[in-house]
This record gives sequence, C-alpha cells and structure tokens, in this order.
Amino acid sequence: MTIKAEYIWIDGTEPSPLLRSKTKIVNNPHELPIWGFDGSSTNQAPGKASDCVLKPVFSCPDPIRGGNHLLVMNEVLLTDMTPHPTNTRRALAETMEKYADQEPWFGIEQEYTMFKGSRPLGFPESGGYPGAQGPYYCGVGADDIYGRPVVEAHMEACLQAGLNLSGINAEVMPGQWEFQIGPASPLEVSDQLWLARWLLHRIGEDFGISITLHPKPVRGDWNGAGAHTNFSTRAMRESYDAVITAAEALGKNADHHVLNYGDGIEQRLTGQHETAPYNEFNYGVSDRGASVRIPWQVEKEGRGYLEDRRPNANCDPYTVTRLIVDTCCAALASATA
Ligand code: ADP
Ligand code: MN
Ligand code: MN
Ligand code: MN
Repeated sequence: MTIKAEYIWIDGTEPSPLLRSKTKIVNNPHELPIWGFDGSSTNQAPGKASDCVLKPVFSCPDPIRGGNHLLVMNEVLLTDMTPHPTNTRRALAETMEKYADQEPWFGIEQEYTMFKGSRPLGFPESGGYPGAQGPYYCGVGADDIYGRPVVEAHMEACLQAGLNLSGINAEVMPGQWEFQIGPASPLEVSDQLWLARWLLHRIGEDFGISITLHPKPVRGDWNGAGAHTNFSTRAMRESYDAVITAAEALGKNADHHVLNYGDGIEQRLTGQHETAPYNEFNYGVSDRGASVRIPWQVEKEGRGYLEDRRPNANCDPYTVTRLIVDTCCAALASATA
C-alpha cells in the first residue's frame, strides 16, 4: 500500500523560522525513511554543499488528505547525522534526559492573527480601524467574530490527527484566536504545536486566509499575540511550595528566558494589554498583568501549575520548554536535595 507522507520541518529563516514541507510517496507507512532537501533554499546550507537530512520524529494521520496518509514532523540533520545548527529539538531532548524523573508537563496557548490580504480579518478593507477592543474576546455574532470557519476546520483537523488539543477561543483583538495544546511532555507538546501550526497555515490556504504569529500585528491599543506556557512537575502537582520554588527560579533567570521567548518580545511585553514589561519580573495569583500567573485554583487547592505569560506567539516551543525545564527542575532538585 503506497501512502502520501507529508514531511514537515522547521527552516533557517531569521529571526523567526518558517515551516516547510514536501510529499514523499512511501510504500510502508510503518517505516518512514530519512529523507533530504535543498538547504540552500531554506537558509540552512550554502549552494555548494546544499544537502540537509530530514529525520522523522513524530507522525500522525493526515486530516487533510485522509485515508492512510500521514503528516511527519522531522528534525533537520547535517549529512554526518549530527543535529543541524537550526535543530533546537535535540537540545530539549538532552535536557529531558536529565530531568525526566520530575515528569514535567506543558500546556501551551497558541495565539495567532488571521489576515485577508494586508489587513487583519475584521479590520475594514477600506482602511481605518474596527471598534475598540471589548466585545471580541470569546464573542459571538457577525459584528464581532471573524474567521470562525477556519478555526472550526483547524480544531477538527487537530482532533482527527490525534493531537492533544485542549480548546480554542476568540481573542481580544478582532481576527485574533487561540488554540491550546497539552498538557503533555515537553517533546510531545512541542512536536504537536509545530504540527498544529503547520495545519493552521495549510487550512488557511483553502480559505484564502493567511496566518501570522507576529507578536504585535497591529501597533497601538491592540493586544499582541502570545503563547502562554503552562508548566508543572510532579512535585508542583502535589505541593504549593514547589509551585513557588519554580516561580522564584524563573525570576532569577528572567533576562535569559525573555531573550529566547520569540523575536520582537519588547513590542508585546509593554506592561499594557495584559502583559508585564519585558525587563521586569513578577509573579502573582490570578494576576494577568504579571510575568508569571498562578491560577487561583492552584493557590486554593495548594498544588497544580504556573503560567509563564511571557513567550511570544512566534516562540520556538522546543526552546521555551527547554529553558523552563532547565531553570525550574534544577531549582526543584536542589530544594529537595
Ligand atoms: P487561560 O485561563 O490562561 O486562558 P487556557 O485554558 O487557555 O488558560 O490554557 C491552560 C492550559 O494549561 C491548557 O492547555 C491546559 O491543558 C494546561 N494545563 C492544565 N493543567 C496543567 C498542568 N498541571 N501542567 C501543565 N499544563 C496544564
Ligand atoms: Mn487561554
Ligand atoms: Mn489568550
Ligand atoms: Mn493564558
């Protein structure tokens, strides 16, 4: 039985990489071979030594093509089979070898903005602005909601693919939406988030809608787009002290995290629009103006998780989850040592 396997990978575009994919006809879907591509066309190699290697790391049913067809997420390798410099997944895998015993889980809230041509969906095509923010978040009705057919198609596709989607909602700016992946392990959540992003761009094609993960797609009094990252370890799921230890640890390493939480983060983390300034750190219960929020139920129940509100929509989840695991799991390990 031959199937179509859509090989997906992350390219070398700077400062924010793009997703790429191409189709391989595969005879045995249980043996997905390594493959290659022209790295000189993706900012990953010079023309004279252009070959890069695709190594499958995660596959799932392809909800676009249906049947037995597959979507295949890949790591990029050099031809000597070592990780390509753009391969951020490998560093996460190495960090996880150190801290797997703490059983870290993540749930990532991916915000994004739909564009029709050069305008966000819902912004008047003739120019100018829609009514001020207020009615759009979780709204209903054609005056306030734009793009729901894309959202519904994407949600259905993620479920058919077997991704760990936990929900969707309309966001504060018109044309802006969110989906959540998780909770799951760092590698699972990150592989699935990149794949869900690919599905979103791909489904947008069918509707003539382009998707941007830009952190501040419209300047001025309009919310930016983030990727709030919810995090727990087994200890945090059992004790509030551990949640506080993790929040304090994030504060001690704040600059390093923010620098790696997505390009243009200073445009979004202004201290307005439900953010804390990028160059300050604080955490608080229920506080949507904090860098890190502890949900009220977590304080009440005395255990659970925290929400790092700083990552941008255009962040790399392999890097964000690696930094959080590195910072928090080291602190948690020494707190119990
Ligand atoms: P918000 O109230 O900030 O909009 P959401 O409901 O959009 O929150 O997202 C919360 C995310 O946190 C979900 O993806 C959920 O699966 C995840 N989550 C819940 N519990 C945990 C946990 N213990 N560890 C990590 N992530 C969790
Ligand atoms: Mn949310
Ligand atoms: Mn949101
Ligand atoms: Mn949130």
